[in-house]
Amino acid sequence: MRLPRSLGIVRAINVGNDGSRMQQMPLGTKETAGDWSTLGQPAWPPQATRAQGLQQLDAFISKAGRAYQTHRNTDLGSGRHGHVSLLSPYLRHRLVDESEVISQVLGQHSQSEAFKFVQEVFWRTYWKGWLEQRRLLWPEYQQQLPALLQQQLQNRRQSADYTAAISAATQIPLFNEWCEELINTGYLHNHARMWFASIWIFTLKLPWQLGADFFVRHLIDGDPASNTLGWRWVAGLHTAGKSYLATPKNIRTCAQERLAGRSDHELGLNKLAPSTFNLPEHLSAKALQKTDIRWPAPESADFAGYRANHGRTALLVTEEDLSWMPSETPQGVVALNASPRSVLASSSDIVTQFVEAAIDDGLQRMTSHYAAEGLPCAETALDDDALVHWLVEERMDEVVCAFAPMGPTRLRLRALRQSLACKGISLRMQMRDYDRLVWPHANRGFFQLGKRIPEFLDIMRGGQ
Ligand SMILES: Cc1cc2nc3c(=O)[nH]c(=O)nc-3n(C[C@H](O)[C@H](O)[C@H](O)COP(=O)(O)OP(=O)(O)OC[C@H]3O[C@@H](n4cnc5c(N)ncnc54)[C@H](O)[C@@H]3O)c2cc1C
Repeated sequence: MRLPRSLGIVRAINVGNDGSRMQQMPLGTKETAGDWSTLGQPAWPPQATRAQGLQQLDAFISKAGRAYQTHRNTDLGSGRHGHVSLLSPYLRHRLVDESEVISQVLGQHSQSEAFKFVQEVFWRTYWKGWLEQRRLLWPEYQQQLPALLQQQLQNRRQSADYTAAISAATQIPLFNEWCEELINTGYLHNHARMWFASIWIFTLKLPWQLGADFFVRHLIDGDPASNTLGWRWVAGLHTAGKSYLATPKNIRTCAQERLAGRSDHELGLNKLAPSTFNLPEHLSAKALQKTDIRWPAPESADFAGYRANHGRTALLVTEEDLSWMPSETPQGVVALNASPRSVLASSSDIVTQFVEAAIDDGLQRMTSHYAAEGLPCAETALDDDALVHWLVEERMDEVVCAFAPMGPTRLRLRALRQSLACKGISLRMQMRDYDRLVWPHANRGFFQLGKRIPEFLDIMRGGQ
């Protein structure tokens, strides 16, 4: 079952301070540069290129030290997220990657000054590694979604509650504001994500799974690991007995400016649940059980000798890592088109446009790098069938790509591997050294991994 598109990317309607309903900025409308320039921020939606990601990193670096530590929790409101880096869309698709962000930041700040920022980047790596060690979790969560949605829509009251929550039409105006911001811009501040998820689960009493699905289809940085596990963390399913409660006090402390002197009643804060409750675990024990990572070849592996026996290799560019290049020169370049993020509905236009443009940027960069050598390069990103066809036409014996962590692309590659094998073409993935270094430590809580950050940084420096 697929969610009707009208529910998936509903246009935002806001309830104004006077209770009137007012139409918000249409989807895809660009905020003016002026909205951002007051805080020295980039134009939005972000341009999906590595060049822009690097420029944004460069522009943010001076704020990544003590300023970030002091102000990072403040949600100033839509278009005014000047205290955080807004690098997540770039990191999500590795237009820029974690190790280069960390090394550039530490090039300008001491480790202690930039500790908080660096730690947040490691949170991303923690979630990726943790999910990778529960390979069955994400596919099982995806499998359960259609039945959960059907159950929600069966009952009139529950259906209305869900529709209100994804249409910015609940009785909690502040929640509606975050919902509009998410739909209109494809971004929410980290604290707004926590408050939104907490209110969704504990006040509106909606299934966390449907909230996570709504997020992943609307966040430009929507990520199977950070998003699914972020929601489970808020719900109290990641760390037993630890759930996150959005309180009026905390919201007032961290979002003071965006609340603009409005009362709890006007914002709907008087309606927030006073406490959390224990949620049932829907996932099977097997899905939650730790599994070993199936380590692919390291990124530095030299396949030159191997290739002499194995013929022609094409580089496959995927949305999971748009800056990785193999150490050996391939004999061609091809890209896989964007993977649907959800089994329920399509992603928002903002997300779709960003991902498609990002893949295109990755393909163009690789093409211009290798085209000088006269290699065949596909002109656009291809779907599965066209990809197999291109590889056969170009007489490739093998494709190599950056390791795709658990998520839709990984599942597609799993199926592709079989289709390719039928044509005598093998698929090889190589894993970045950074992931190989950190992921094994993402098997318990973040604290265990966090303790090792200085050690990771030492090793990363040694490798530079
Ligand atoms: C319910 C919920 C859902 C979330 N869904 C996503 C998601 O789909 N994709 C996503 O990238 N992040 C997700 N996050 C984490 C976090 O909110 C975003 O990474 C962050 O807000 C992105 O903004 P930024 O780039 O300005 O972050 P900054 O504060 O500038 O941090 C720099 C980078 O560190 C990483 N990071 C920062 N905070 C976190 C965090 N708490 N967890 C994991 N990584 C972090 C991001 O890659 C981010 O770009 C979610 C958090 C919650 C609570």
